[in-house]
Amino acid sequence: MCGIVGYIGNRQASSILVEGLKKLEYRGYDSAGIAVLDKDILVYKQPGKVSNLEQSIDEHVAGKTIGIAHTRWATHGEPTQENAHPHPSNNQEIVLVHNGIIENYKFLKSELIDAGFVFHGQTDTEVLVNYIQFIQDKYQLNIEAAVSKALQQVNGAYALAILDKKEPHKMVVTRKGSPLAIGLTDSNDAFYVASDAIPIIEHTQSLVYLNDHE
Ligand code: GLU
Repeated sequence: MCGIVGYIGNRQASSILVEGLKKLEYRGYDSAGIAVLDKDILVYKQPGKVSNLEQSIDEHVAGKTIGIAHTRWATHGEPTQENAHPHPSNNQEIVLVHNGIIENYKFLKSELIDAGFVFHGQTDTEVLVNYIQFIQDKYQLNIEAAVSKALQQVNGAYALAILDKKEPHKMVVTRKGSPLAIGLTDSNDAFYVASDAIPIIEHTQSLVYLNDHE
């Protein structure tokens, strides 16, 4: 099993995310990545160890205080850089990390290809982020409404952390069949997200384990 970490606060997100991923290494993985956001989305991802990812991160992460991170255990597509998470949508506005399996991704992918979407890798996850964009564009929804509506068409298991550069102070998280917890601080100055308590327990005073998405 692999992992997710997310952070919104006022500290540098990339450091917290990479440290969190290191604490999830025990779960096993084949690739690792982070995305941070302010005006634009920056994505760093590498096959192999979190230390490879760490070496690829440059100075552009400075001052970015919101981000999502992932260790991947490939189920659909080889452990390559293209298939590593986070995955941006075609319009580069939404970015997402996913643990789990989207069972009906082939059906959704053919609908998206018919609508003109382009795919760079083989994962079920790349289909999901583009399906959220498709639904957002079609119905003109904010990110949480788009995620919720898109997931009504999705069969499978997921833990998700999602950013939308149109709403850069927000992170959408949800799960079904894969674990996800939110960590809260007494001072309310930050929110942490993770697959389990280990990467975030030292930063937080309470944890909320999410229930399955209906
Ligand atoms: N099914 C996704 C993939 O192959 C997510 C795998 C995971 O849970 O890490 O990229």
